[in-house]
Amino acid sequence: MRKMSDTIERIKCLIIGSGPAGYTAAIYAARADLKPVMYTGMQMGGQLTTTTEVDNFPGYPDGTDGTAMMEDLKKQAERFGTEVRFGLVTQVELSEKVGGIHKITVDESKMIEAETVIISTGATAKYLGIESEQRLIGGGVSACATCDGFFYKGQDVVVIGAGDTAAEEATYLSNICNKVTILVRKDYMRASKAMQHRVNKTKNIEVMYNTEVDEVLGEQVVEGVRVFNNITKEKQVLDVTGYFVAIGHKPNTDIFNGVLDMDDVGYLITKGKSTKTNLPGVFAAGDVQDKEYRQAVTAAGTGCMAALDSERYLGALD
Ligand code: NDP
Repeated sequence: MRKMSDTIERIKCLIIGSGPAGYTAAIYAARADLKPVMYTGMQMGGQLTTTTEVDNFPGYPDGTDGTAMMEDLKKQAERFGTEVRFGLVTQVELSEKVGGIHKITVDESKMIEAETVIISTGATAKYLGIESEQRLIGGGVSACATCDGFFYKGQDVVVIGAGDTAAEEATYLSNICNKVTILVRKDYMRASKAMQHRVNKTKNIEVMYNTEVDEVLGEQVVEGVRVFNNITKEKQVLDVTGYFVAIGHKPNTDIFNGVLDMDDVGYLITKGKSTKTNLPGVFAAGDVQDKEYRQAVTAAGTGCMAALDSERYLGALD
């Protein structure tokens, strides 16, 4: 229930989400004098704060740290006047009219009226969804090696997945844990050749192909994982205490269900080469609308586009 305890605030540009897309949109929108207000969401800085090294963002010849990079982006956005606020958008009432006002509720109580809205809410890690896995989240089941890997120092763990994230998480864990086993459901990994090379040359990483999880064992904490070979159907128990899932992400678009056009997975649909959604004055940038590239640099690029699209939209109303 919305409690209209706070006064309503009217702004030109609201940015929802604080990853590279949101901060880049903020830098451009602030420099264009749109006086943007950003609500960061619960994970300030977004997914990059759960990664360690970022080696592929242009301009950092020696690489950088994901959290440090997001702090720098925040400072840069604030330098031009962006107001960065911690809070979660809980409800939206988006106008269908050109020049209409979009009503956004934050933390179920604060009401914002915005002329333009830039959605950069990103995506969230997926789990396999089996009962034993869900029950043990926080008890040895995690979707973030860099957040939780520390707790498994010197222990044996599994990583589920076959993409770059799985390869990256496994490599990270191999520096902390005794042994890391990657469970790959197919007979090959999807990760880039460079990442696979890193995995293969790391002595304490083993890759088990054609292998899927049957059950995570343990009542309160992970005590093992029963896996099966999907060709031979043979089962075995791996003696591990940590279970890291790295099987991709789901876009954070639940609050826009039935309001904005999205694909069957939930990614927001943008028009042509723009960041325009189906509603005037509402733009989408970053992973929330990109299931194809999903890189920090592409997210930043679309964040810039969303701010330019907002500026042009407002300019055309005058
Ligand atoms: P991806 O979608 O690339 O890979 C997900 C992996 O999880 C796939 O290999 C998939 O297997 C596997 N998977 C999905 N569902 C299941 C399931 N139910 N059981 C077992 N395995 C499953 O996601 P990532 O998070 O790895 O990467 C997302 C994007 O981010 C990519 O574009 C990637 O390149 C990029 N990235 C880049 C990094 C870097 O450059 N430093 C680091 C991390 C990510 P299958 O192959 O069988 O479909």
